[in-house]
Amino acid sequence: MTDSQLLSFVPVHPDSHFPIQNLPYGIFCHVRSCMPRVGVRIGDYVLDLAAVARAGLFDGPILSRQQAVFLQPQLNAFMALGRPAWQEARATIQALLRADNPTLRDNAALRRLALIDIRNVQMHLPAAIGDYTDFYSSREHAFNVGTMFRGPEKALLPNWRHLPVAYHGRASSVVLSGRDIHRPLGQTKADEAPAPSFGPSRSLDFELEMGFFIGPGNELGTAIAAAEADEHIFGLVLVNDWSARDIQKWEYQPLGPFLAKNFATSISPWVVTLAALAPFRCAGPAQAPEPLPYLRPGRDQAYDIQLEVALQSRQMSAPQVLCRSNFRYLYWNMAQQLAHHTVNGCNTRPGDLLASGTISGPTPDSYGSMLELTWRGTKPLTLASGETRTFLRDGDRVTMTGWCQGNGYRVGFGEVTGLVLPARSG
Ligand code: MN
Repeated sequence: MTDSQLLSFVPVHPDSHFPIQNLPYGIFCHVRSCMPRVGVRIGDYVLDLAAVARAGLFDGPILSRQQAVFLQPQLNAFMALGRPAWQEARATIQALLRADNPTLRDNAALRRLALIDIRNVQMHLPAAIGDYTDFYSSREHAFNVGTMFRGPEKALLPNWRHLPVAYHGRASSVVLSGRDIHRPLGQTKADEAPAPSFGPSRSLDFELEMGFFIGPGNELGTAIAAAEADEHIFGLVLVNDWSARDIQKWEYQPLGPFLAKNFATSISPWVVTLAALAPFRCAGPAQAPEPLPYLRPGRDQAYDIQLEVALQSRQMSAPQVLCRSNFRYLYWNMAQQLAHHTVNGCNTRPGDLLASGTISGPTPDSYGSMLELTWRGTKPLTLASGETRTFLRDGDRVTMTGWCQGNGYRVGFGEVTGLVLPARSG
């Protein structure tokens, strides 16, 4: 049976991001009694894996002894089990949801218990995120930003084509989609001003990114080889790395981003696994010069994931798409990012989040930040309402979405959305 022939007894619209081919994991609770636990999204329902476990349906060799991982309020314990356990879980869940399997389909009592309407569900952060790292892996993004600040000849710094540049971000301020974001306060300095001033950021931006969660980590002093990366990558989410460009510009030298980035990073609630993404693996961009041996790219390490960013201001009745990009544009792939992150012996742990950096494509309508879309504010965007934007205004809602297009089905990520609120006073 091919992927496109797989069908669930749960009704799923062809445009849904969550057919039986996807089966992403998240942490959810029922709105009436909030006990966060592990669920899988199918169409407009959540399959409660705690209920599936209690019914004794995880009967494979690994999970029959590890059912407690599905009763946890984070995915970390399940992530830590590793790929054999993930494969076993996916096989069990996919079989249970198939149209031709009566186990759940014909058991009304179990169905009532285990299949919960998405309208009655509240989502939580999928993992306790111990560490968060943000890369800078889009050549187009790095080139655009470098061109704005240094001119096209010196746009890419000398190290860029030799290693995946990154900084250590702030895990405590990674928030779930739907959380409103206050405009940050901070210190900024205009070029012509004699001294810095303090106040709300005037250049609040989004960054279109994706991030992956670490499954089994590596011990301090050991490294993860690029060829082994898939054993350590649990799955991916959408990431909006909110950024205050004016704060960033004044603070970033010489140690890199700090308060311009760590006030909020939003992620989507459903973690899409590498198994679900496997049909959409593809070749990434050619890399020249050839990277050092520990960064040699394997075959087909990119994924064809279509990405969109939409903005809706208070005056608009519908969101307007500002950017269409693709995860496959990234120059450095996840295996290279993980190999580089650990090559010095840096340890990673289950639930760590590694984000891609802004994913810009080759054309101006594929740039993944306002900084690039408005070329540092010099080319304001005109919205459907007639308003213009250089950066984000209070009341703007930013929504990112992403999906892989299969033959008659989509493997999607849902969305990550956030509303910009005014700065807190004082
Ligand atoms: Mn970023």
